Amino acid sequence: MSLWLSLNFSDICGKAAFMFEIIQVLLIIVAAIIFIFLFWAGIVSFKENEFRASSRFFILSFISPIPYLMISLFSFPYQFELELVLLAITIFLPLIFFLPISRNTAYQQTNPATRIDERDTMFSRNELKSGTEAFEEYYRNNPDKKAADDVFRSKVGLLKPGSSQYNPFQFASANASFETIEALRNKVNGPVNPDQVKVEPERITNYIRQWSKKLGALDCGISGLKDYHLYSVGGRAERRNKPVVNSHKYALAFTVEMDKTMMDSAPSGSIVMESGQQYLESGKIALQVASFIRNLGYEARANIDGNYEVVCPLVARDAGLGEIGRMGLLMTPKLGPRVRISVVTTDLPLLIDQPLYNYSMIDFCGKCKKCADACPSKAISFNEKEEIDGVKRWQINQESCFTLWCQLGTDCGRCISVCPYSHPDNLLHNLVRSGLKNSSLFRAVALRMDDYFYGRKPPSAPLPGWLDIKTKE
Ligand code: SF4
Ligand code: SF4
Repeated sequence: MSLWLSLNFSDICGKAAFMFEIIQVLLIIVAAIIFIFLFWAGIVSFKENEFRASSRFFILSFISPIPYLMISLFSFPYQFELELVLLAITIFLPLIFFLPISRNTAYQQTNPATRIDERDTMFSRNELKSGTEAFEEYYRNNPDKKAADDVFRSKVGLLKPGSSQYNPFQFASANASFETIEALRNKVNGPVNPDQVKVEPERITNYIRQWSKKLGALDCGISGLKDYHLYSVGGRAERRNKPVVNSHKYALAFTVEMDKTMMDSAPSGSIVMESGQQYLESGKIALQVASFIRNLGYEARANIDGNYEVVCPLVARDAGLGEIGRMGLLMTPKLGPRVRISVVTTDLPLLIDQPLYNYSMIDFCGKCKKCADACPSKAISFNEKEEIDGVKRWQINQESCFTLWCQLGTDCGRCISVCPYSHPDNLLHNLVRSGLKNSSLFRAVALRMDDYFYGRKPPSAPLPGWLDIKTKE
């Protein structure tokens, strides 16, 4: 009996010692994984020129494994129990962040009750020349807008010498992009081939989706054309004062990526170069697709910079490409607001995409407010969404924003460059994005992490070296 007891006791002791060793090995493996992950994140950040983030990842990669190594390599009372607790926390904490919590599947977007008058947009108001009948008429009908508009008119102006970010090379490059768009502005419509080609909606939708990506689109979505997508009255060039009439059934939205490096130097000249170029790239895709559709014998009208019948972010949202965020721009799941949009309206039969109904982005925007903090003109609201024209949304102060543009000479873009969703589309940031999508708890933590690694108000990055040239003395 006593022999059996002693054998059994030594058996239990042997198993406990074995378990103890296993836990110790697991802790060392966890320490190694933490080190490798953080060190890899440091390398990724370094390659992204995010030097604050990379140095913090590198420091953390050396500090974070220390508790695991100390606890597993040194002997002290209750060591085994402590090891178990640490291991359990390490395994379950990430699970909590990635488990679906507060996904709010009932979330629905709300739609504007009325159409927007394009004459009220800042670009339209900027076209008004003092002393003209259009100028007098607009401010007779909108006396409340005169004072604010006098302020932006008192500044130097977009892409003008004397503005604070003026650089002859960068501004000449941006102007070159805008002049090219200008040359294409009247090509948005054209004759329709009378010999109509019969199409299968499913196949032609797939064809256009794939082809637009070959042409350089990041994404392509399709919505039914809704009344609120269309401006009520035109406000630019020869469309001024003309009611917008468009009976097409469908609207295709295309997004193109804006280069991260060019955006990071916002509000310097690189941002307006990139804006101009991506307006052109997205515009070219819309023009080609519209022309292709007309060649097939269906009506199609491209909507490109300076010649829009539609409010592009609303079309893109309904076409399933993203949500409208705090800064009033389309927020795409992979690149946030770091995109430009063009649209084609058509009667070619197509398959319609569903809106994303991505509650996580709206919820994150509610918490984040980083763009509002970074906005130099304080144009972005810190408040909850407000009821405006029958729809709950955030609205920026477009007069303050545009006045700053006219001071800078560029289109600023600080809000886009600091947005946590604007990080590159890679494994590191996509891991964070899947956490943001899944868990409201993770959204709160991720915001603190973004502030810690990138800064609450990150300074503008220096211009890419090749852009930093001076005129010859
Ligand atoms: S910076 Fe934050 S609040 Fe602003 S749009 Fe991006 S996620 Fe939303
Ligand atoms: S572009 Fe600049 S001024 Fe305008 S809302 Fe964004 S950060 Fe503010």
